[in-house]
Order: sequence, then structure tokens, then C-alpha cells
Amino acid sequence: MKTKRDKLNYLNKYWEKNCKCKLKKTATQAVFGDGNINSEIVFIGEAPGKKEDETGIPFMGAAGKFLNEMLKEIKNKREDVYITNIVKYRPPNNRDPEPSEKDECNEWLISELKIISPKLIVFLGRHSMLRFFPNGKILDLHGKLQIIDTIEFGKQAFLPLYHPAAALYNGSMRETLIKDFKKIPKILKEIK
Ligand code: URA
Repeated sequence: MKTKRDKLNYLNKYWEKNCKCKLKKTATQAVFGDGNINSEIVFIGEAPGKKEDETGIPFMGAAGKFLNEMLKEIKNKREDVYITNIVKYRPPNNRDPEPSEKDECNEWLISELKIISPKLIVFLGRHSMLRFFPNGKILDLHGKLQIIDTIEFGKQAFLPLYHPAAALYNGSMRETLIKDFKKIPKILKEIK
């Protein structure tokens, strides 16, 4: 029987070879999801930045430090949760990923989520939220639990949050993100 780890390793190897994302040409390497593969929570960001491209690990820069601080606030360590991105390769100069780049990496992300099978999927920012809520507005949905029927996973709980990089130097957005983030333990209890 293949373990979750075996399945994820196979998946990452397969898509690293077969992903048609054009960002592959400019990125140093693919940045795979990272952390506890048995976590009940998965955080999904947008795309790797410079530090992530260098290290091959998601959320290693300033946004990652902020994320680690917020995890500490809810008595979690980074190693306790699973963190990934919708796009696995760094867009040049950290520009927003284009729709075609998101589409090319989508099957990779969906299969990854099916293997981890978390209770709660937390979107870090608008881009990852739009993958599942194409008409959603982060301004309306941030901090609000969404439970919907999905084609990919059946009934699934989602929590949209502001992106830590966007909130880092914006006082009021930062406060809102921290407040929303602190709801996670209660939400997890609620949905169990
Ligand atoms: N921002 C993201 O969305 N993902 C990362 O991995 C780093 C910064």
C-alpha cells in the first residue's frame, strides 16, 4: 500500500516533469507543498517569491515570517500544518500569476489536496480563493467560513484570508488578518 508520502512524492515528480507552465523556464526550481501531510489545515498561497525560488520551500520570506508568527498565536508551529501555493513556479519579478499559469498548475494542486484531504482549506489571498470561488470578493469573504459542495472533494470547508504579504505593511489589513486568523481553532472545532 502506498503511503500519503509516497503518493505526494510521485505526484510532485510527475508534475515537475509534465507541468506545461511557462514559468518553468525562468524559475530556479518547483516549490512543492511543505509541512505536515496529516494536517487538518492546508494553507494555500499564490506563487513562490524570490526566497521560495531559492530554497524550494513555500513562504520562506517576509510573508512566511508573518505567517509563522500568526501560527504561533494559535499555538501551532509551521511544521504542524501543510502549506502550498496555487502556482508552483516563481513568476518573474513576483508579478501576479497569469490565468494560463494558474490553469497549468491546477491539476497538480487538486491532486495534492485530495491526498492531504484536510478538514479546512485556508486561502492566503484573493488568488487562491478565486480558484474555488471565482466570483468571490475577498473584501466580503475574508474571515468567514464557507462550506460548499465541490466537484473535487465533495463537501469542503474553506476560510478565505487576506494574503500576509499584502497585510504586512498595511496597518488595518494586518489587524484584520490577525483577527481572522485567530478564528481558525474555533472553526476547526466547529467543523469536526
Ligand atoms: N507568497 C505566496 O503566495 N507564496 C509563497 O510561497 C511566498 C509568498
